[in-house]
Amino acid sequence: MTAPVSVLADFRSDTVTTPTPEMRQAMAQAAVGDDVYGEDPTVNALQTELARLTGFEAGLFMPSGTMTNQVAIALHTRRGEEVVCAEGSHIYEWELGMMAAFSGVVPRFVPAPLGVPDPGDIRLAVRRSIHQSPTGMISLENTHNKAGGTIIPLDVLAAIRNVAQEEGLPLHLDGARVFNAAAALGVPLREITRHFDTVSICLSKGLGAPVGSVLLGSAAAMKQAHRYRKMMGGGMRQAGVLAAAALVAVRDGPARLAQDHRRTQQLARALVDAGFNVDLRAVQTNIIYARMPQAQACVDAWAARGVLASALGPDSVRFVLHHQVTDDGLEAAIRVLTAQSPEQESKPASTMSR
Ligand SMILES: *Cc1c(COP(=O)(O)O)cnc(C)c1O
Repeated sequence: MTAPVSVLADFRSDTVTTPTPEMRQAMAQAAVGDDVYGEDPTVNALQTELARLTGFEAGLFMPSGTMTNQVAIALHTRRGEEVVCAEGSHIYEWELGMMAAFSGVVPRFVPAPLGVPDPGDIRLAVRRSIHQSPTGMISLENTHNKAGGTIIPLDVLAAIRNVAQEEGLPLHLDGARVFNAAAALGVPLREITRHFDTVSICLSKGLGAPVGSVLLGSAAAMKQAHRYRKMMGGGMRQAGVLAAAALVAVRDGPARLAQDHRRTQQLARALVDAGFNVDLRAVQTNIIYARMPQAQACVDAWAARGVLASALGPDSVRFVLHHQVTDDGLEAAIRVLTAQSPEQESKPASTMSR
C-alpha cells in the first residue's frame, strides 16, 4: 500500500466542487415543501430566479442535466424523428442512448469545427421527404464540452435561430455551461438564451452547487415537462435543501467564472510551453484538451503526485478548471505536469514521459 497522496488540484471536472460554507448554511435553513406538488418555496424561488435571468416564463428543477436535456427532447419530438445537433453533442454522446430509449428519436450530427455548427449545414440536415425520418428539433451546445468548452458566437446563434424559425423547428440549448459562455463573452445570459425555445442549465458544474439542473421554457412547456420529469423518476420532494445551495451558486458562482477562465489560460500556456499538444484556439473558457499517447498512463502517474485529470479516449486528456482550484494549487499542479513533458520523452525512462 502506498500512502494516500494529498490532492493539489482536481481537474477531472467542474462537477467535483463541494458545497461552500454559505451553501451548507443555506441548506440548513431552507424552507421546504413537497416539490412534486409545486409547494417547495425554495425550489420555486430558484426556478423563478433562473427564469428571470434567462428571460423565460418558467423553469423546472431536476436532479441532472441529462434529465433536463432529455425532458426537452421529449417535449419537442415525436417517435421516429431526428434531432439535428453538432457532432460530439452531450445529448447523444454522453446521455447513454436516452433520446432513443425514452423519446424514440435519433441524432443527426452536423460538422462543428471548434464546436460551432454552420447554419447552412443545419439547414441541409433538416429532412422533409416522406422517405426520411423527419426532423423534430435542433439542439445546440454552448459551451461545447467535447470541442473544448468552446463558445458559439452570437451572430451564429442568431443565424441558426433564423433557420429554426424558417423551418418551423423548436431550438433547444444544452447550456450546461452557458454561464461560462456569457462570462467569456461579457454579455448577460439572456443575450444567449433569448434565441431558444428551451434551455437546460447545470448548476452543479462551474457554479458549484452540489446537485441539480434547471430546464427553462414557456409556462405551458414546463407544465408538460413536469409530467416527463415524473416519468423519468425525477419528481423530488423536499428538494428545497438542494435548491437552497443552488441559489447560492447562482448568486456567487457567475462572478468567479472569469477567474476560472484566467487560470485555464495560465495552465494551457504552461502546457504548451512544456511541449504538450494543446489547440489553444479551443481554449476559450474552463476546459483544456491535450492530445498525447498513453493518456491513461499519464493521468495515473499525475494522480500519484496529487494532480487529477481525465483520460477521455486513448490519446486525449481533459483538464477542467473550477473555483476550488486555487492559484497555489494551480502553480503546484503546473510544476507536476511540466516536470517531464512529452517533449522530454527521450530522457531516462519514466511513466510520466508520454
Ligand atoms: C455535464 C453536462 C450535462 C449534464 O450532465 P449530468 O451529469 O447529467 O448533470 C449536459 N450537457 C453537457 C454539455 C454537460 O457538460
